[in-house]
Amino acid sequence: MRQKLVAGNWKLNGSKTSIESLMGGILAGLKSMDNVAVAVCPPYVYIPMTQGLVAGSPIGLGSQDIADQDAGAFTGEVSGAMLKEFGCTYAIVGHSERRAIYGEQDADTARKFAAARKQGIKPILCVGETLDEREAGITEAVVARQLDAVIALEGVEALTDGVIAYEPVWAIGTGKTASPQQAQDVHAFIRGKLAALNEAVAAKVQILYGGSVKGANAAELFAMPDIDGGLIGGAALDAQEFLAICRAG
Ligand code: PGA
Repeated sequence: MRQKLVAGNWKLNGSKTSIESLMGGILAGLKSMDNVAVAVCPPYVYIPMTQGLVAGSPIGLGSQDIADQDAGAFTGEVSGAMLKEFGCTYAIVGHSERRAIYGEQDADTARKFAAARKQGIKPILCVGETLDEREAGITEAVVARQLDAVIALEGVEALTDGVIAYEPVWAIGTGKTASPQQAQDVHAFIRGKLAALNEAVAAKVQILYGGSVKGANAAELFAMPDIDGGLIGGAALDAQEFLAICRAG
């Protein structure tokens, strides 16, 4: 049985005050949840204060990105070693916003996956197709290409050191959730692709769904056999919504 994971991606949102209140609400409502792991991914500057807020709780901490380099002349970047020093155990890599807005390529994402792994940080590897790609019938080819970049660099076994998040770009922040069956189909494709390379890896790796997950639709998504939790954007900014999603896990 794979454990479920619910991870909140706060994106470019929050302030000291709002994060204190959000975490206060989450911590107050979070009862012991044996079969679901929970994590939050604040903007970099709020990682230290969030580390303090989650201390002593079961909530894990992650970053939204990570440098693909260890150190040196890379202005604006934050390394895996730095993130580890502030308690990060997860790092989102290859989010579609990094790919689409900041031009991150498959090979860059693969190096970030490697950089996180090298520090013992679990990369949350985001993959997913745009609406145009879905309509062109190339969803599986796109997802396979994104996975192959990581497999080529790190090997398929490396995927068990991380988590995969299938996030159809057309469902992110749009209110349009993939139907549980649409999501399950792609999750099953991913697991099948990995199984062809290594069955044990395919059985073990957690595959999260992301894209307009809310309290109201989380349970039906998480009930699908290959969906092992969610990567949550908008709904992670509201304590009660986020808790409802965690409870669905
Ligand atoms: P959303 O974002 O839940 O707001 O759609 C998900 C994500 O981008 O990870």
